[in-house]
Amino acid sequence: MPEISEFFQRNLVIIFFIYGLGFFVIASAILLSIRPLAAIGLAAASFYIILFSIIHGTVEFIDMYAQYKWIIHGLHLTEGAGIGRLFLLISSFYFLLLFGLQLTMRNASRIKTYVIGGVNTIFLLSVIYIALSGVLKTNPKEVESATRFLLGVPSAILVGIGLYRLSFNNYLTILTEDYRWYFKGVAYASILYGIFAGLIGPKSNILFAPFFNQDLFFEYTGIPIQVLRATAAFLISYFVIRAMPLSIAVRILGSLIAVSTIVVVLGFTSYINFTALGASHNKILKLASEDKDFSYIQHSFNRLHSLMSNPAIYKNRQTYRPLLKEYIKDFEASLNEVKAMEHTDKEEMELISKIFMLSRPILRWETANIDTTNWNRLKSMIDEINKIHLSELEEFKEDAAGIFTNAKQVALAAFFVSILAVIFIWHTTARLIVKPLHTLRAGTKQIADGNLEHRIAIHTADELQRFAVDFNTMTKKLQDRTIKLEKATKELEKLSITDGLTGLFNHRHFHSMAEIEFERARRYDTNLSILILDVDNFKYYNDKHGHPSGDKVLKTLGSLTHKNTRSSDVACRYGGEEFAVLLPQTDKNHAVMAAEKIRHIIQSHEFPYEKTQPLGDVTVSIGVASYPTDAKGIKKVNELIEKADKALYKAKNEGRNKVCAS
Ligand code: GH3
Ligand code: MG
Ligand code: MG
Repeated sequence: MPEISEFFQRNLVIIFFIYGLGFFVIASAILLSIRPLAAIGLAAASFYIILFSIIHGTVEFIDMYAQYKWIIHGLHLTEGAGIGRLFLLISSFYFLLLFGLQLTMRNASRIKTYVIGGVNTIFLLSVIYIALSGVLKTNPKEVESATRFLLGVPSAILVGIGLYRLSFNNYLTILTEDYRWYFKGVAYASILYGIFAGLIGPKSNILFAPFFNQDLFFEYTGIPIQVLRATAAFLISYFVIRAMPLSIAVRILGSLIAVSTIVVVLGFTSYINFTALGASHNKILKLASEDKDFSYIQHSFNRLHSLMSNPAIYKNRQTYRPLLKEYIKDFEASLNEVKAMEHTDKEEMELISKIFMLSRPILRWETANIDTTNWNRLKSMIDEINKIHLSELEEFKEDAAGIFTNAKQVALAAFFVSILAVIFIWHTTARLIVKPLHTLRAGTKQIADGNLEHRIAIHTADELQRFAVDFNTMTKKLQDRTIKLEKATKELEKLSITDGLTGLFNHRHFHSMAEIEFERARRYDTNLSILILDVDNFKYYNDKHGHPSGDKVLKTLGSLTHKNTRSSDVACRYGGEEFAVLLPQTDKNHAVMAAEKIRHIIQSHEFPYEKTQPLGDVTVSIGVASYPTDAKGIKKVNELIEKADKALYKAKNEGRNKVCAS
């Protein structure tokens, strides 16, 4: 299949271009995914694969340039450029090897140090040897083959193994859920790449390169190995792109779509242009081949004319008869030749028939019948037809040049359009996908952090906007519920510290407040007083008027106590008919005064049926204890309460309706 092979050889420029581009795509894809790669501990290793991709991509672009030079000018790369290319190739495989080692020995740090040290040493020594021995100059193909066999193949296979092993780790929290598949995919592609890129290099005399090389593939399969390599490289970039964040992937895919569309359009226009160019080319070839016939007619006519118009020869024309005969025959032949041609030009056709008519007497040996005017007319006609022919040729040449310029302009325009298309796609994807996604992410984070006031603003009139609206509705509901919940919690908290009957604080709250206030008093060395009130002869009241009436009294007592203490004081229902008041920052004298005031107000208040009470009034006895006056060394507030209790007891003993201090 040598024809296919030739086709590929001619179009190898494109394949090299795609191949090189594949590596640059890999490099940028990895660079863009560096964050998730760093999260799984591959940041340092990625550095090597990025270097490999950039350098190897450059080598492919050099190859593309070399192929172009070869096709257009039939020239090879200069020796210096060839050596430079080879050096880049070697260093690219070296970085691939380092990447492979990093991957496969991720968990064996000690051995890794030794192995990488050893590899570096061997590599350095080899490079020095290659540089000093001059082998690079004399046997560049051997060096390339050796590099491919010894560095390329093992590196790519190492990379494959390393990536395959990565697929067994659990990266679910960091990478997309398909990561196992990606790793395996890249692993297979890199082994494939190793086989095609490493094993099959240029034909040389080293190892098995004489039996297994690129030329062989060209010759027997017609499929250049470059296609397979490019496929492997693109498979790798495909996997990397698939594993990338959506915002980057959509841009790359969008750009690819834009560029591919333009390539298709360009291909179609090129096809049209080149078909037209082919037609012009054929015409030019035809006209060029006819060229000599036209000049021959002129030549044979001129010869005949000069012979006939020579008077000396004309006189002895019998002597010159054989020569004349030959010239006439020649002229006739050239005329027939031109007549037999395919003519499209009307003017040309008319001219030819006129020439025929005028030449007829000559061809019939009736030369005497043609006078000088006719000779001259014939001469000018033959000149004219030559001129027409030449101008026709010129026209087609111009036509072809025009088409070629057109094709070049189309390619240039397509190039700029593709740049515009890529910019447009980047802009559009940014507006429609990337930015809204970012807004969504930032918004959900705000809400997750507790800012329920936040609303996500997306105006793309699509699914993302609807998503944002639904999300906002959800947040609003969450916010409403949270507000209700907070209110209910506050109410519950209040209930849990309030006494149901009197509305004062309850016993539990009294104790916790007492502890807090006591700590404060101790720490800041201030005063704290406690009053404990007990209704006098309350059992009597209950027995006489019933518990519900007693409850009413308790309620009134609660409100009287609350009203006649400061807002900083804490009034509580301590027990059944006992009340307690915490008086922060209040010394003993003032506490006794406050207690006295309460006692007096209660005594003065008119309670129902109070006249029947033993003392003729509903009264209370109050015990007072103060910190630090009564309890210098005490550590617990309970002791202070006990002291107040004792004082209360004393007040009861001393006849009730009385305030006693401890
Ligand atoms: P004193 O304190 O003067 O010695 O006599 P007292 O009759 O008040 O005696 P004590 O303090 O021992 O009696 C408590 C009485 O208070 C018993 C009960 O009838 C009454 N009591 C306790 N809790 C309530 C309550 O919630 N409602 C009503 N109506 N009465 C209560
Ligand atoms: Mg009591
Ligand atoms: Mg009592």
